[in-house]
Amino acid sequence: MSKRDFYEILGVNRDASDEEIKKAYRKLAMKFHPDRNPDNPSAEEKFKEAKEAYEILSDAQKRAAYDQYGHAGVDPQAGMGGGFGGGGGGFADAFGGIFDEIFGGRGGGGGRSNVYRGADLRYNLEITLEQAAHGTETKIRIPTMEECETCHGSGAKPGTQPKTCPTCNGAGQVRLQQGFFSIQQTCHKCHGTGKFIADPCKTCGGVGRVKQHKTLSVKIPAGVDTGDRIRLSGEGEHGVNGGPAGDLYVEIHLKPHAVFTRDHNDLHCEMPISFTTAALGGDIEIPTLDGAAAIKIPPETQSGKVFRLRGKGIKGVRSHTHGDLMCHVVVETPVNLTERQKELLRELAETSKDDKHNPRAKSWMDKVKEFFGD
Ligand SMILES: [Zn+2]
Ligand SMILES: [Zn+2]
Repeated sequence: MSKRDFYEILGVNRDASDEEIKKAYRKLAMKFHPDRNPDNPSAEEKFKEAKEAYEILSDAQKRAAYDQYGHAGVDPQAGMGGGFGGGGGGFADAFGGIFDEIFGGRGGGGGRSNVYRGADLRYNLEITLEQAAHGTETKIRIPTMEECETCHGSGAKPGTQPKTCPTCNGAGQVRLQQGFFSIQQTCHKCHGTGKFIADPCKTCGGVGRVKQHKTLSVKIPAGVDTGDRIRLSGEGEHGVNGGPAGDLYVEIHLKPHAVFTRDHNDLHCEMPISFTTAALGGDIEIPTLDGAAAIKIPPETQSGKVFRLRGKGIKGVRSHTHGDLMCHVVVETPVNLTERQKELLRELAETSKDDKHNPRAKSWMDKVKEFFGD
């Protein structure tokens, strides 16, 4: 199949100016770009045809060869003349930045990579145990880069427009030829944005964004624990060149509690009782997260005994039942005794010397004696 004439493909005269050729190509490229014709294979053919024609006719040397020898003068298969040269000059390189505007930065087939998703951010949020147990809603204030109101994000002084970066032709990447290899590098002039701002906006210094604070409402579900994260979709850093924003992760940290310590969904607390209550028994009122509860202390309760209150712990975010509350008994030695009280205790001591009143002390002494080989 013989190739169509390049001038005919672009629909221009043989003496067309560079500008006319460019304009004709843009028109065809927009019409037949594969992104706009997803279900039309013939459009892609036409797009490629126009691209090839443009690549030849926009290059003065190749155009001259084509004018003189026809397709044979520029076809690499024919082994004559310039051909397409090294580096492969992708679509974007030849074409500049216009697809940034038309296709939202997705670029043509040139392997464009200057559109980035914004970074994820983390915010450490301290909450109380009660808030964690019952859930809460709180507001957080976070630093953020917001679109500059003066230039509406373009970075260019009002009334001016950012231009396509002349160094990389808007690709954001430059190709370096090193021996046989061609290496892609981020363009140093535009730092990969593909745009060049001659007259930067004074408010944001050309960045297009300014540092501000925003207040976000965060819903904390009941049962969260230290280390849990709540994701606020799209509240992270802004994307680059129209890329999507990152996410904000609110990481939960529980403040120490005056009474309870938490172990997963269980709560623990110390329960000091007087030694008379420990000996004689009694009722003790203890706090829980849902109000007071009573514990019956049986007579002869020892220090270290644990009372478990079922279901008085926390219902975890991902669990269906509540944890338990463990009350650890600590028998308190009485202090600030009066002479009369001391007298009573001495009397008690005299009458309770017998081993049967102090079985633990007795068995401990026996072990000690055994140890020393007495
Ligand atoms: Zn600005
Ligand atoms: Zn550049």
